[in-house]
Amino acid sequence: MRSFALILFLLFSPALQAQSWKAPNSDVQKIVESISKDRLEATVRKLESFESRSTLSDTASTTRGIGAARQWIYDQFKSYSPRLQVSFDSYVVAKTGRITKDTDLRNVIAVLPGSDPAGAVRRFLISGHYDSTLQGPGGPRPEAVDRAPGANDDASGVAAGLEGARGMRQYQFPHTIVFVAFAGEEQGLVGSTLLAAKSKKESWRIDAVLNNDIIGNSGGGNGFADNHTLRVFSEDPNDSLSRQVARYIKDVGPRYTPSMVVGVAGYVIVMRKTTSPDWEREIYVGNVTEHVLKDVSIDEWGFGIRAIGQNGTESLTSAYVNPPRAKAAFKTVP
Ligand SMILES: [Zn+2]
Repeated sequence: MRSFALILFLLFSPALQAQSWKAPNSDVQKIVESISKDRLEATVRKLESFESRSTLSDTASTTRGIGAARQWIYDQFKSYSPRLQVSFDSYVVAKTGRITKDTDLRNVIAVLPGSDPAGAVRRFLISGHYDSTLQGPGGPRPEAVDRAPGANDDASGVAAGLEGARGMRQYQFPHTIVFVAFAGEEQGLVGSTLLAAKSKKESWRIDAVLNNDIIGNSGGGNGFADNHTLRVFSEDPNDSLSRQVARYIKDVGPRYTPSMVVGVAGYVIVMRKTTSPDWEREIYVGNVTEHVLKDVSIDEWGFGIRAIGQNGTESLTSAYVNPPRAKAAFKTVP
């Protein structure tokens, strides 16, 4: 038993493991290659040119304020493809807290419908917030009559969403991708909270939300600059779906660089010590429905499974979480 397990681990040890199932999806590769840094910069500059995108700023002008900005974002999505279903997700938010007057708040939404009739109900959101704010000596100045360019926070995240939609527009995806530019973030995540409530009411199935904020900021407060690191935040606990998405990004993201090889279909078992925050071991087991891990204590390891498509696309990891033990009922003797 022990020797079998050792052989298994040798076969699948990272150094010897053939990485053939880690091939990139060629369509995703093409999308990644289509991303233009010049266009990203042009978008950030354009959004900055509205002078202020404060949620409380002018909504009537066509050149200045949040009204002009949201219309421009809407028009961009619209211009990319008739396949993108573009709309305003509109609310009138009553005066409260940092919303200092009744406010016409609009998220901009562009939906790329899924091509799989059964799978299209699953939605993946790619979002950022297009509103900006002005920090004064006494904290935020919500009326924002002054300039609030918000180039990094968060024109950069909106630019990523627009560029992503542009890159993905002519491809078919089984699931639905929803691009959202939120408003009211700076007043306390108002736009996203309202859309979350609406999606719950309408029973949307949301598989993941990839929210991008301040992605254009490569400089830390201490002057340290690093434009090669992407920081991914996800919600606890460690085996949460949110954490699986983060691990997936960490694993798959760096793959879309040169020197990739061909993939085959099958499954990968992933394992991590119960004390480890990330998957430590990946075992490609081929196209099987059963696989026995010998000499592995389920008390010491956490497990998950990923499906690998013919084109090398990997699914998210489904973590195996121990079902809670049934509570025994005890009676005491009087
Ligand atoms: Zn932000």
